[in-house]
Amino acid sequence: MREKQFAIVTTFTLPNRTPLSLMIIHGTGVAEKGSVMKGMISRPTQIFTERGIMSKKNPYKEDKPGICTVCGKIAFFDEFGNGTCPHCGWEMCKDEEKMGQEQGISYPMLVPVWRAREQYRQGKPFKATFEDFVNGLYFYSEMSFLHKGIHYYVMFSNGKICVGHGDVYQLYDTREEFTEKANIDGRLLKDIWDEVENPSYMFD
Ligand SMILES: [Zn+2]
Repeated sequence: MREKQFAIVTTFTLPNRTPLSLMIIHGTGVAEKGSVMKGMISRPTQIFTERGIMSKKNPYKEDKPGICTVCGKIAFFDEFGNGTCPHCGWEMCKDEEKMGQEQGISYPMLVPVWRAREQYRQGKPFKATFEDFVNGLYFYSEMSFLHKGIHYYVMFSNGKICVGHGDVYQLYDTREEFTEKANIDGRLLKDIWDEVENPSYMFD
């Protein structure tokens, strides 16, 4: 049996994007049904430049110049209108205005775009407020944040809101109860939100 070059096109979800992206596993092996092939996994950004395996353009490549929706400087977008700003770090999503108005969030950044503009103007880093965070919970169902070096999760469990770390957790029945009573060692989360770092969707 002769060894042949092969390329397998597969899909996966980028950690910070909803859509699927193309990935190629390529290498050499015996192209036979049921055989195990050894190869290497290409990063999606590499596959379109390596070996000319695919001539089709990567639709997720952010190479269309446009204006950052937060800082107004030049940023780059993919074919779906999503993009990243190299100046302020905002990750744009084509539905962000609508999401910001209707749901009080954005994705993948969490902070609604209108609040991100305020934070940028004030020279502050993008950070979701407690309200943004709870809005995000109802959109994505699994959230996380860091407090004094401890990673906390917030998620739904049997219809209740569960917040905790490891196997230490609190359960709340409603959004209102969670908002008013969730605490860390007795200190209300809503009161110590300034101490919370990186409130975000749980991507892992
Ligand atoms: Zn920007």
